[in-house]
Amino acid sequence: MARRILLLGPPGAGKGTQATMITNALHVPHISTGDMLRAAVAAGTDLGRQAESVMAAGELVSDELVVAIVDERLSQNDARCGYLLDGFPRNVAQAEALNDSVVNAISTVVVLSVDTEEVTSRLMHRAAEEGRVDDNGATIHRRLEVYTAETVPLVEFYGSAVLEIDGMGSVDAVFSRIMIALAKS
Ligand code: ADP
Repeated sequence: MARRILLLGPPGAGKGTQATMITNALHVPHISTGDMLRAAVAAGTDLGRQAESVMAAGELVSDELVVAIVDERLSQNDARCGYLLDGFPRNVAQAEALNDSVVNAISTVVVLSVDTEEVTSRLMHRAAEEGRVDDNGATIHRRLEVYTAETVPLVEFYGSAVLEIDGMGSVDAVFSRIMIALAKS
């Protein structure tokens, strides 16, 4: 059965790391809007130019832009037998747009919960290591606010499809919790 998974969690919850491990285990493509947007910024495309300052401020890029890039990505062949979405949908309007364009777009939602203190400290470390322009004190605070206001309502939106996973602890411990929950679902 094709698994169409949405991975949710606050910035710094470890979505990127877990997404790579899950998609390797399940052999489905990892579709990350954050990665696609950063690639567009690096390549200096029109899309990248529009997204750059919005991302650096910790705000959301317009629904229209991200819905278009995700629609295009999901129409590629490798997405026919399942996928893992990371970073999209990020608000209810995007979730509704996805439902309008793809039938049964999401079968399971994995929500990683990590407390605010822990995600803030992880993001500050990542800032030092990876140099992401949106990993600085003020922007981190804003991204967490945006997550609470815009993205958390998706947990209710997806209702019984949601698996809540404790995202605290080691990468391997979190990964096994996710795989156990997916196997049972
Ligand atoms: P994180 O979840 O760690 O903050 P992401 O890599 O998922 O990071 O996203 C980084 C930034 O890219 C977001 O703060 C936002 O500006 C933009 N972005 C990514 N996905 C979306 C989306 N679905 N809708 C709007 N903006 C997005």
